Amino acid sequence: MADPRKKKPARGNVENSGFYENIATTSGGSPIANELATSRSARQRLDKAIFERPTKTRVMTVTNQKGGVGKTTTTVNIAAALAKRGLNVLVIDSDPQGNASTALGVEHGPDDASTYDVLLGEMTIAEVVQTSREADTLAVVPATIELSGAEIELVGIERRESRLKEALDVYLAETSQSEKTRIDYVFIDCPPSLGLLTINAMVAASEAFIPIQCEYYALEGLSQLLNNIQLVQSSLNKELEVSTILLTMYDRRTNLSTEVAQNVRGHFPESTLNTKIPRSVRISEAPSFQQTVITYDPASPGAIAYEQAALEISKQGVK
Ligand code: ATP
Ligand code: MG
Repeated sequence: MADPRKKKPARGNVENSGFYENIATTSGGSPIANELATSRSARQRLDKAIFERPTKTRVMTVTNQKGGVGKTTTTVNIAAALAKRGLNVLVIDSDPQGNASTALGVEHGPDDASTYDVLLGEMTIAEVVQTSREADTLAVVPATIELSGAEIELVGIERRESRLKEALDVYLAETSQSEKTRIDYVFIDCPPSLGLLTINAMVAASEAFIPIQCEYYALEGLSQLLNNIQLVQSSLNKELEVSTILLTMYDRRTNLSTEVAQNVRGHFPESTLNTKIPRSVRISEAPSFQQTVITYDPASPGAIAYEQAALEISKQGVK
């Protein structure tokens, strides 16, 4: 059993984030009162919004070989936001660090069945999947430390780049037997590298979802990532496309954040989501309670931004 949830600290403090730049502020009143009012109205709008099921399962690999840009945070929060609206979501933790498994509160000790067993063909996804405490409709294939050996073990194995795809195809065929169990979204959380784990995720997915941190080195390495995506497209998975880019850790107080955001949007006008994720203490605190920020502090700007990004993604699906 995992540790029981820790008690949440008292709520009520409003973070100084960039979220409000996206929405009109109320005139008059102090900045904090305005932020509170804006937050409340954004929350109300989101509560009324309809998150439609996509017509077919969308498989998204959350990838960027740069470390610490918000891949895991994005995976777990978008997944939770969609699952809490009743959509069927599967998260595959494909990073030996197991951070997504921690944030989603699933068991991932050395003896737990994991992505490793699936990649090596020893178990099916149905056999290893666990339900997250975040939502009944959120299933998770956890990652354990064993996965760190997989990059090397896979090298000598046949069809080493498509092991995850083969396992996922079986699971999606099983679950699509009924509309109720059909999976709407699969998110694969990748490690910060372009090795076989990431390649497996790119082969299994039809969409690449790239979080980009709003900082100076944001675009460094991006051309290498795009090259790799193109290589996978041309040789292993012609369906793969960069469908979604999300700006993370945005700080409206810095010119740099604004410049990076404009630059990314200039390069990828179609795929960059309008919503930017603000830098927020609440977002970074949530995993230590084995929760997403969507559960930990749903009224916080970080939770609202992730829900708004999830809504935008759900609209891409019904285009
Ligand atoms: P890795 O490459 O190691 O897998 P990652 O790309 O998955 O990293 P995360 O683990 O999601 O990145 O985030 C890196 C760190 O930044 C974490 O400590 C996380 O809590 C923090 N973080 C992520 N997004 C935000 C945010 N919007 N505001 C504040 N902190 C954040
Ligand atoms: Mg990560």
